[in-house]
Amino acid sequence: MRQGELDVGDVGQIARTGAVPPGQDIDAVVAAAHARALRHSQGAVADYIPVLAEADPELFGLCVVDVDGGVHAEGDTGALFSIQSISKAFVYALLCDALGHEEVFDVVGVNNTGAAFNSVVAIELNGGHPGNPMVNAGAIATTALLPGDSAEARWEGIRAGLSRFAGRELEIDEEVYRSETLTNQRNRAIGQLLESYGRIRSDPAEAVDVYTRQCSLLVDARDLAVMGATLADGGVNPVTGERVVSADVCRDTLAVLAASGLYERSGEWLFEIGLPGKSGVAGGLVTVAPGKAGIAAYAPRLDSAGNSVRGQIATAYLSRALGFNIFASDSHYSRGDLA
Ligand code: GLN
Repeated sequence: MRQGELDVGDVGQIARTGAVPPGQDIDAVVAAAHARALRHSQGAVADYIPVLAEADPELFGLCVVDVDGGVHAEGDTGALFSIQSISKAFVYALLCDALGHEEVFDVVGVNNTGAAFNSVVAIELNGGHPGNPMVNAGAIATTALLPGDSAEARWEGIRAGLSRFAGRELEIDEEVYRSETLTNQRNRAIGQLLESYGRIRSDPAEAVDVYTRQCSLLVDARDLAVMGATLADGGVNPVTGERVVSADVCRDTLAVLAASGLYERSGEWLFEIGLPGKSGVAGGLVTVAPGKAGIAAYAPRLDSAGNSVRGQIATAYLSRALGFNIFASDSHYSRGDLA
């Protein structure tokens, strides 16, 4: 979405390289961002996974969790939805933590494919390489690489790991899992294609099944904001105090999100919002302000790339109003540092 569509005309753009503003100020900004995005009802609820089409398009939750553990919530932040592609970011972080930077870099890659999240052509054009872990091919390859003797063990590692990011035990939505399993022929094809190129060493059908389960985990906007805040806080969950992954892993994961978190729209997103983020087709969107906060939105209407429309509008507002854009700076002269 372009600046005009993001409805940020009068928000202004400030640079803030220090701490986040005090709690009550964040509450007011979150409420204003929610009200602003609520005016917009463009986009459509995903229906290629049949059960997702039943989502209430009006649900809209917005939550910021800062690295001190402060929670700033507005709207339907307790409404549960399947995490979908947002799981890719956190499973990737778990894999990097287990295997290290180099190995994952080689096998999964870090470059944007410029194509849709479920593209088969992108795999072919890349000589069988999945491209990056935020598209389905790279996510299936990521899941296949996780440590564990069986698919069940790998699944339990994912469920437990994502639960540590969220700070509570996450559960699968069996209906979403069933609905997607009946309709995920394309992902199964991607799994087999990767196998044909020697990119998946374990059984591709099993890898796709575990990937489908991870996409079916239920979260709410508050959970997602805590998960994002953990990536913002060097890998320590700021609400539970538990270290989930290393600070190096957070840095690597956020770099990958900046390049590919919103698929083929990642460049536009970075240009307008200036933060790493990750979207999912159920309408979730998580954004990370490194060292500052996690932002999460849930609003099921999507743009044509599969990104929440209200989520993008609200996040653009927050990024500007809270001074979160990582590329923004003020001259040190204008701050009066050099008198
Ligand atoms: N489970 C979905 C799929 O594989 C996830 C896609 C998404 O959220 N973009 O198609």
